[in-house]
Amino acid sequence: MISKIIDEDLIQEAKAYIEDAENIVITTHVSPDGDAIGSSLAFCIFLRTIGKNANVIVPNDFPGFLKWMPASSDIIVYEKKKTVADELIEQADLIFALDFNVLKRIDSVAISVADSAAKKIIVDHHLDPGNFADLVISYPQFASTSEMIFRIICRMGYFTELNKECAECIYTGMMTDTGGFTYNSNGAEVYVIVSELIKKGIDKDAIYDKVYNNYSESRYRLMGYMLYEKMKLYPEYGAAMISLTADELSKYDFKKGDTEGFVNMPLSIKGIIFSAFFKEEGGKIKCSFRSQGDVATNTFAAQYFNGGGHKNASGGESYDNMEQVIEAFEKALPSLKDELNEELKRRGYV
Ligand code: 5GP
Ligand code: MN
Repeated sequence: MISKIIDEDLIQEAKAYIEDAENIVITTHVSPDGDAIGSSLAFCIFLRTIGKNANVIVPNDFPGFLKWMPASSDIIVYEKKKTVADELIEQADLIFALDFNVLKRIDSVAISVADSAAKKIIVDHHLDPGNFADLVISYPQFASTSEMIFRIICRMGYFTELNKECAECIYTGMMTDTGGFTYNSNGAEVYVIVSELIKKGIDKDAIYDKVYNNYSESRYRLMGYMLYEKMKLYPEYGAAMISLTADELSKYDFKKGDTEGFVNMPLSIKGIIFSAFFKEEGGKIKCSFRSQGDVATNTFAAQYFNGGGHKNASGGESYDNMEQVIEAFEKALPSLKDELNEELKRRGYV
């Protein structure tokens, strides 16, 4: 039995909005990850199954290791097909905002979405949802938006309509947002849901293989360079920092998704519990932060790098150059000293 965590009124309101709508657009955050694509495709497949004209619009392209996913070839990349996307947004009766909290996270798609007369529903597990939607289904206690999609479809009474393709997308999102069920994944009901997805016919081992054993050679060459030359440790803080400039990335023939998971790698080193990754891309520096235990990265990201996110996984951005960003990071690091020390003590490292 799966608990009814999501408020019944929200479920019924969402159901009513869906029943009233014919054209539905699903949108998700920039640089979409497995949960963004998984939740969006799962919901799109479900909506099509119940007869809706549903489409997924993403701000920019998504990684190659997600391109095997059912209906992924139908995804409209805003950067590439702006006119088609704008038309769909304008004609939509209902827009779902999945796996993000504020419009800024969908980059240039935000303008059309904000302008659209469509009703808007947020389904998300990030903190602090914005106020751009008519209905907000925000539950940070869930490990993935994909898990929320499973729960919402079931609670609306459509478990039978949830088919194998939809289940594959939900599983992919649940798996990727928990690092293959290695963090943020102690919720017992996660495994009840996985069990239901397996009963729907998914091959979870094959999905793992398609997502995690599907990388390019250049990613591994870049990883080697990054680990050898570009990973700096701050043992007194239990911290690590990685930086990659646009020049370095292009030298290794960087393609979207090639640096996926890099930020987590230093955390595998004994005594490292906080990791930062700075990547120069698209004229700015994209910042990623990860931590273990009680070290809050989201407040750090918000305070110093114009970002936010979850406690143990957050991000931000900067328009300074790489040297300045690294300098700012090293200046900011002492502000986490007490938190880091507490966690290092708890883990018996100091
Ligand atoms: P990633 O490091 O994988 O890009 O992002 C990890 C998490 O940090 C995301 O799921 C998202 O919650 C948050 N995040 C990443 N970039 C930003 C940003 O620029 N602004 C905010 N507010 N959150 C971000
Ligand atoms: Mn997510």
